[in-house]
Amino acid sequence: MNSLKNLQRAVNRGNLSRFRFHVQLFSFALLIYGGYLAINVGNHLPTFACLYSDLHGGACYLLGFQHQMVTPWPEWFGGRGMAILIGLATFVAFFVFFNKAWCGFVCPLGTIQDWLSALRRKLKIRPATYSEPVFQRLGKIKYILLALLILIPMAIGNSFFGLPKLSHDWGVPFCMICPGRTILPLFAGDFSQLAIDFSSVAKLTLTALGMAITGLFIIGSLVKPRFFCLFCPMSAFHYIFSRLGLLRLTKNGAKCTRCGNCYRACDVGIRAIADDLESYNIVQDDCMMCGKCIEVCPEDDCLQARFLTLPVYSSTAEGFFKRMDRKNNGT
Ligand code: SF4
Ligand code: SF4
Ligand code: SF4
Repeated sequence: MNSLKNLQRAVNRGNLSRFRFHVQLFSFALLIYGGYLAINVGNHLPTFACLYSDLHGGACYLLGFQHQMVTPWPEWFGGRGMAILIGLATFVAFFVFFNKAWCGFVCPLGTIQDWLSALRRKLKIRPATYSEPVFQRLGKIKYILLALLILIPMAIGNSFFGLPKLSHDWGVPFCMICPGRTILPLFAGDFSQLAIDFSSVAKLTLTALGMAITGLFIIGSLVKPRFFCLFCPMSAFHYIFSRLGLLRLTKNGAKCTRCGNCYRACDVGIRAIADDLESYNIVQDDCMMCGKCIEVCPEDDCLQARFLTLPVYSSTAEGFFKRMDRKNNGT
């Protein structure tokens, strides 16, 4: 019992940000270059690892999911419907284990945004922030994108309200505009996705939008930490299953002094992490479970990352002062 307490104390005093940096680096190498070593951790990952990148060591669920949504209605009740269910169950099984920590620790697009933020800090550019009403309004865009990436493929395989079906050129609409498709292959030396396809109106529209969004992704991430994550439909998809997550971010509101440290440390800008004193499970739809809020909270056990009921990382006054010392000494 004592050894477990000692271990928890050591973990709580630790440098989670440095640990996260190394996990992000490892995940990036695995998902972008794993193919070199014939590694493939699956094509149903709840994170962006792009199938358009030839060397990928695992791939995002959204590409296959959009293909599946083209299925005509009658086939949903046969073997094809079963395959869709199995794909979804695999995605959920991956997701449930780590919950939204896939965003904070694994997603290559999230990691690239963090690298661009590090560059911004080096260039001494002040980060942009949103007011709360703007943050709330922009946060809805990811649900609209999620609805579109389901409805557009459905309208290829099926007629809605007697309207003609869409052309297959509208297939995988989100992949066509996703910055993951254009940016991730670059790390494998493949520049072929940086192009506009003029072969049809649909392809021209989607690929031109994709190029514009890629530019926005790079410029936006340079001025606003995790700029793209607020609009990410994968994040919206996550949130549907987030309550099932075994890893949780919890808050004991009775211990919170509303000092605001957690909100100021949060790259995404989630105000509820400081303001909400009622919710125990405090994971919000935009949270990436990076744990920065836990690191900077000075109250014992106020914020915790828990796996099932077990606290794996807790805010403590001792850990807070230890980390402040390290920061002030530049170690
Ligand atoms: S929200 Fe960000 S980190 Fe999460 S899947 Fe989307 S791009 Fe990746
Ligand atoms: S850092 Fe801790 S005490 Fe301060 S507002 Fe956040 S949760 Fe409350
Ligand atoms: S609320 Fe905490 S865990 Fe979630 S993104 Fe913000 S700092 Fe990270």
